[in-house]
Amino acid sequence: MKMSASGNREKAQSLLKASLITKAPVDLNKIAKLLGFMIIPYPFPDKRKGMVFVESGVRAIGVNENHPLTLQRYTIGHEFGHFVNGHQHEDNLFIEDESRYYNHHFQQEREADTFAAELLIPADFLKSDLLTIGLDMEKLIKLYQVSELAMHIRLKTLRFYEKYQ
Ligand SMILES: [Zn+2]
Repeated sequence: MKMSASGNREKAQSLLKASLITKAPVDLNKIAKLLGFMIIPYPFPDKRKGMVFVESGVRAIGVNENHPLTLQRYTIGHEFGHFVNGHQHEDNLFIEDESRYYNHHFQQEREADTFAAELLIPADFLKSDLLTIGLDMEKLIKLYQVSELAMHIRLKTLRFYEKYQ
C-alpha cells in the first residue's frame, strides 16, 4: 500500500508538471489533452459515476453529467488513475458502480482513488495554500473544486490538521 501511494504521487506530480499546472484548481482538460483522452459528459443512471474506455486509437472517459461538478472532477481523476496504473480490464472498459468496491477489483479502486486525490489536491499546492488561507474549509473546497469529504480525507491523510491548525 505504501509503495502504491507514493507511486501515485509521483505519477500525478509528473503529469501536473508536464501540463504546466502550478496551482488549484487543477485543470483536468489539460491532463486529458496530455494523455489523449476525450471527456464525454453523459446522463448515466445516478449510481454510475462514469466509465473509461481505452483501445488502441481511442481514449475516452464518460462522466455522469447529472452529478455535482466536484464529483465529476473526482470521477475523471479516478478514471485517469486506472489508466496511469495500467489496470487490466475486460473489453477495454471500466464501468464505475458501487459493486467494484466489494469484489476482486477493490484494490484497483483504492489505487484509482489514491491517484485522484494526488491529482486533484496535490500535497505541495495544498501546503502553500494552507499558509495563506489557513484551515478554512469553505475557501479550500472552492479553490480546489472538490467535495468537503475529499478535502477532509486529504487533510487528515497528510496530517495537515495538526500542522496548520
Ligand atoms: Zn474505478
